[in-house]
Amino acid sequence: VRDFVEILVIGDELLSGETCDTNSHWLDGALESIGWQVARHTTVPDHLEAIAAAFEEAARRVPLVISSGGLGPTGDDLTMAGLARAMGVSLYRDQGVLESIRQRFARFQREMTPNNEQQAMIPEGAEVLENQVGTAPGIAARLLGAEVYLLPGVPREVRWLFEHRIRPRIDRQRAAMVRRTLKVIGVGESRLEHEIREVIAAHPAVRWGFRTLGMENHVKLAAPPEAIAALDAAEAAVRATLGPKLYGAGTDTVEQVVGRALRARRETLALAESCTGGLIGKRLTDVPGASAYLLGGVLAYANEVKVGALGVDPQLIERHGAVSGEVAAAMAAGARERLGATWAISATGIAGPDGGSPEKPVGLVYIGRAGPQGAEAKELRLPGDRAAIREITASAALDWLRQELAG
Ligand code: AMP
Ligand code: MG
Repeated sequence: VRDFVEILVIGDELLSGETCDTNSHWLDGALESIGWQVARHTTVPDHLEAIAAAFEEAARRVPLVISSGGLGPTGDDLTMAGLARAMGVSLYRDQGVLESIRQRFARFQREMTPNNEQQAMIPEGAEVLENQVGTAPGIAARLLGAEVYLLPGVPREVRWLFEHRIRPRIDRQRAAMVRRTLKVIGVGESRLEHEIREVIAAHPAVRWGFRTLGMENHVKLAAPPEAIAALDAAEAAVRATLGPKLYGAGTDTVEQVVGRALRARRETLALAESCTGGLIGKRLTDVPGASAYLLGGVLAYANEVKVGALGVDPQLIERHGAVSGEVAAAMAAGARERLGATWAISATGIAGPDGGSPEKPVGLVYIGRAGPQGAEAKELRLPGDRAAIREITASAALDWLRQELAG
């Protein structure tokens, strides 16, 4: 099939829980960005017949096969031999490769051992791709009509060889799919699809996808370059349909969008965090330049701190409990006033696993928002474990502020 590529990663360590296959992940992105669709990943042990069979099977299915691993100097590095077997050729000692290995050892003043010569054993008919960041060269070959590229396992060498030796030969960037991502918070994926169903039906040239990440949902649009007008029209229609529910696009995060809005309005923000334990502050300060709008916050975990540092009325806590809308609003109002900010957001809730009760179960959270117009709170009932509840709470609080700033 045209445009399809398969990735083979070779090494026992990738099948025993020792090493995580990050090379496939990186190659996926690199290939996708130049117009190739990755159709399959195969992980193969350091076993000659298994390697030969994997190359042969992949080359029968797709026109491009890229492998990583098994090009080292030791007895378990069998990728060259496996490819040679699949091609029905033998290995020869490449004098050029041998010389560059010798020079590399000399340059680093290390002594070469006889097994290093294995890295100069190349399948007959294959082409050597010089590697300037390691000893093992890359290889280009043809197998059953497919183009095959061999890369070492070391991630840094994979990236260098791909960028410098392979990408220029296989670049089909002009054919790459054009992609757009539109992002919402707090609208589930089924509701999201339902709300834009007419836009989807009206734009059949666009490939539609949905992705859920905690409280976020992303609509993904993709189209080939010749259908870019349809893609633009579809994106505009989604934006019009979702309106202010949409918080951003592409690589935007809600903390960036909130920061941009505050900066544009020359306003400031304070935080009062209980169940999120500083997570909202962490996420806001992940954005460089956050000091332009974030004043600070109070990590008010204990009731005494809610009262002492934020000025929450102890009677409110007694009457409604620390996890209540009244306390969330008072926390936000207190942070805004004590820190002298334009806006404040707060969170108080039961993140679990303990501390829940029939009236106040795990996942019950209140977020607060205070501004020039006063303070208010919103109740959330969240699914998931402690980590998920905290992350979703932070997203919800940030998005609630974003909506106010946008409106
Ligand atoms: P090799 O070329 O097979 O000798 O691999 C060299 C080293 O690269 C291995 O010891 C692993 O630490 C690393 N490595 C190999 N394959 C992968 C992979 N698919 N993803 C990430 N690291 C890898
Ligand atoms: Mg290996």
